[in-house]
Amino acid sequence: MNYFIKNPNPALQFKRVPTKRTKTTGIIIHHYHHSTATPQVVNRWHRDDNGWLGIGYNLIVDMDGTIWEGRGIEAVGAHAANHNNNNIGIACQGRYDDNDKKMPDAQFNALVWLIKHLHVIYGNLPIIAHREVGVTSCPGKYFPFEELKRLNERGGTDDVTRMISPDVMDSHDDLQQFKDIKYFDTLISNAAAPGMLDIKIDNGISDVETALTVLFDAGIVNTPDYWRDVMKMIVGVDAVLIKMANRVRNIFERIIHAEARGEPFEGQIAVGNVIMNRHKSSGFPNGIHNVVFQTKLAVQFTPTVDGGYRAAMNISRSVRLAVDDVLCGMDNSKGALYFCTRESAARGNWHERSLTFLFELGNHRFYK
Ligand SMILES: [Zn+2]
Repeated sequence: MNYFIKNPNPALQFKRVPTKRTKTTGIIIHHYHHSTATPQVVNRWHRDDNGWLGIGYNLIVDMDGTIWEGRGIEAVGAHAANHNNNNIGIACQGRYDDNDKKMPDAQFNALVWLIKHLHVIYGNLPIIAHREVGVTSCPGKYFPFEELKRLNERGGTDDVTRMISPDVMDSHDDLQQFKDIKYFDTLISNAAAPGMLDIKIDNGISDVETALTVLFDAGIVNTPDYWRDVMKMIVGVDAVLIKMANRVRNIFERIIHAEARGEPFEGQIAVGNVIMNRHKSSGFPNGIHNVVFQTKLAVQFTPTVDGGYRAAMNISRSVRLAVDDVLCGMDNSKGALYFCTRESAARGNWHERSLTFLFELGNHRFYK
């Protein structure tokens, strides 16, 4: 049995993008109080009946052992009052207070795997029953909570690494099969994004530790340790990570070159910071590539559509050093999420009318 976190299909529709948690201190366990409901059904209950933005649970484990993404691993959930900001909520399909008196092995083992997976990402978080933090019987008196806390699979080997089986994944191409593993999904979709493959990288990252640092700083990899573990299991993942890190670098180099090559060094850094700030903000897409190429509502970075980005080939030393500094965490931006030129601001543009002005640097004005 290979476990992984699947995206529900059809995808769950939320009223808006869920907010990201800023800290994670525990895992709260629930049941659906329903034996057959699907994630889509629970999403409708929570969104349409309760008026929430969508399903309240971060993750779901069906009775057949399928693991689904609900609101998402990183999101603030809506599953345990006063505890949503810092806990991951896992809901198990089933009605463990009366109807379902024994949890199937498939569901139990998937749940054990999922908790161990979260422990790899977040460290050894305590496992909490909803009833321990709220006035409820959830997850039900027949739920095997004490057994769960021991984290021993039933009738199988205690093997957390089965998610990605080395015998089926020994080349880059095989990674494609694992699109619905959340982390690979991000990696692969970024790696395959248009415009990222056609460029020569002349200031390349060649070692995996630097690559992990860059990917971590860019928010693409949340857990370098997780990837070190994956690398031990799967041939070629280090090369994919290095490629990805170089692509992240290159996106930064090209967009900063296109937007700010004539600007002072500090201003070039600040433009990179705006991209990074957007990536970390819940109001913008996740991922450097998605931020730079965002076109929903409006084109966000003009060079991506007027040819400036594509033409950015001979990246100056200043821009390269600015990218180094952005990726190392240097931040000149005071939290800025927008910038424009002085000329357009002088015309009373949207930035000037609608945003909070922060500071001027070179020919750019920065706002949030
Ligand atoms: Zn509950």
